[in-house]
Amino acid sequence: MNYHNYYPLDVVNGEGTRCVLFVSGCEHKCVGCHNASTIKPDSGYPYTEELEQKILKDLGDSRIHRDGLSLSGGDPLYPGNLEDIGRLVRRAKEMYPEKDIWMWTGYEVQDLNEEQKAVVEYVDVLIDGPYVQEKRSLNLPWRGSSNQRILRRCEGQL
Ligand code: SF4
Repeated sequence: MNYHNYYPLDVVNGEGTRCVLFVSGCEHKCVGCHNASTIKPDSGYPYTEELEQKILKDLGDSRIHRDGLSLSGGDPLYPGNLEDIGRLVRRAKEMYPEKDIWMWTGYEVQDLNEEQKAVVEYVDVLIDGPYVQEKRSLNLPWRGSSNQRILRRCEGQL
């Protein structure tokens, strides 16, 4: 897996204070994609064990509280990302079960395959669906278009 950006402290990608990782790779090719540079899976930088350890360390840093981890892109559920993202979310949940994991994907939840579902098992909030330019809205928190949904495990939507 490659990634484009990692922000150790972010307040705009999910609720509260968060670590945020933007991965490379997406097969949806939405017209008007605002992260088009992340679509190619070989764009960006190689995701390493060193970066994963840094993310896990940042999540547990007692000096600066983080509410959780946000995963965006690109698409964290792009087939080539599943191994690395699956390991990251599993480790994060095992180490910090009290912290929530948010994920943005261009897939709709009902279309996920078994491998993708196994990753989503560790996700607390999933924003699903492609960006649809005709449904663009600036008034929706954490979404670009009105077809996208915020699905919360705590509300039984995942
Ligand atoms: S799912 Fe997201 S990253 Fe992928 S093409 Fe659509 S808007 Fe871009």
